[in-house]
Amino acid sequence: MRANSSSGATMTGIDREEAADVLVVGAGLAGLYAATVLARAGHHVVLAERRSTLTGTVRTTGIFVRRTLEDFDLPEKHLGPAIRRVVLYPPQLSDPVELTSARDEFRVGDMGPLYVEAAREAERAGVGLRLATRFLGRDGEAFVLTDARGAVRIRARFIVGADGARSRVARELGLSRNRRLLVGAEEVFADSPVEDSRPGGAGDTVPTFHCVVDPRVAPGYLAWVVRDGEHVHVGTAGHAHRFPNGMYSALQAFRERAPGVEDIVRPAEVEKRAGPIPVGGVLPRISAPDGLLVGDAAGAVSPLTAGGLDPCLRLSEHAAAILDEALRSGQRGPLEQYDGRALRARFRKRLLLRRGLDAVRSPALASAGFTALRTPPGRALARRILFGPGSFPLPSAVAEPRPSGLGQRV
Ligand SMILES: Cc1cc2nc3c(=O)[nH]c(=O)nc-3n(C[C@H](O)[C@H](O)[C@H](O)COP(=O)(O)OP(=O)(O)OC[C@H]3O[C@@H](n4cnc5c(N)ncnc54)[C@H](O)[C@@H]3O)c2cc1C
Repeated sequence: MRANSSSGATMTGIDREEAADVLVVGAGLAGLYAATVLARAGHHVVLAERRSTLTGTVRTTGIFVRRTLEDFDLPEKHLGPAIRRVVLYPPQLSDPVELTSARDEFRVGDMGPLYVEAAREAERAGVGLRLATRFLGRDGEAFVLTDARGAVRIRARFIVGADGARSRVARELGLSRNRRLLVGAEEVFADSPVEDSRPGGAGDTVPTFHCVVDPRVAPGYLAWVVRDGEHVHVGTAGHAHRFPNGMYSALQAFRERAPGVEDIVRPAEVEKRAGPIPVGGVLPRISAPDGLLVGDAAGAVSPLTAGGLDPCLRLSEHAAAILDEALRSGQRGPLEQYDGRALRARFRKRLLLRRGLDAVRSPALASAGFTALRTPPGRALARRILFGPGSFPLPSAVAEPRPSGLGQRV
């Protein structure tokens, strides 16, 4: 048998055929969640993931914001201690702006185990999870996957592209694709202060999110240290073409003077994470008659903060509700309501602020920005961005998602 992808590639040797209601491509948080909600609604869901293990190649720091922690039932045992303190630094790192919230604002997920737990939940709900299985393209009315045994045609009524920032599903369905991307990289290691760890001693750190605005190490974004007492994440992100000597050399330069980790020794072996981050806002065309996009594939990331975990959960819930309606009614009409243009309109302010961050091209301009940040209105704006009630905006016609489990609280 021969199969044609819309890109013109021809696939041969397809020897198996299966049927499903929905094929979800990509077992990141967006795909795992969409698949679980659909399976819980009684649909037959196949979830294909090209990685052979969910703990490998993690592409996120895993910072969950308060609204996500309040609305979604994330597995407690895979969340780090709460963070209330944020310190913002100018390029020279002196005279930082410190902001502390009265509430728990962030928690860092231990992402490998968290994905595994979410996958268990998905399988308990009935999802057919296939690891080491890659989506190749379309073959007429069917979709083609490939695994160690060869190619398989999935005759699914709908496909969900949860396959990340550079989505193949988007390409195959002829939908919008991410063009404005940052790239980010970080190192993760255990937090183990070398000195006095008694209360008040050198190692007695308050969980803190350190953010450095310096276009030399993070052009168009921030470099960060997240330290919660369990793990340390040292990272940077920015526009790929604006790193003077590439992202990894910027990361190395940053880690040599990164704030907040002076009392710990970086181990020789550290976990490395990296990936693209779409920051152009939700894409305009995210649905076709036979499928839709969620998560990074849909551009569902805050253009300003580059946070995508809250958006991917909320958009997946919205997408699953629309697919559920389409499957129950036997109509494709409901997918027309899944409209990126309506969602985009709600991102105008964030896109404007993103342009402001993009425009900070010299350390002098970043330092000047800090003069404004130290004023009461500047601090109020920073507090609103970091601690405000905002989360991913869904169309007003769609109810706020109900709390629903990715895993069991323990
Ligand atoms: C360095 C970095 C740090 C970040 N930190 C944060 C943070 O702290 N907080 C936050 O809110 N956001 C953060 N983000 C953004 C956030 O991580 C993403 O928005 C979010 O994880 C997207 O989830 P997703 O499921 O859409 O995509 P992904 O997690 O990228 O999952 C896509 C999956 O699809 C699979 N796949 C791709 N192509 C195929 C194919 N052809 N066939 C089968 N499978 C395929 C991939 O293997 C992958 O598992 C960060 C991003 C980066 C790069």
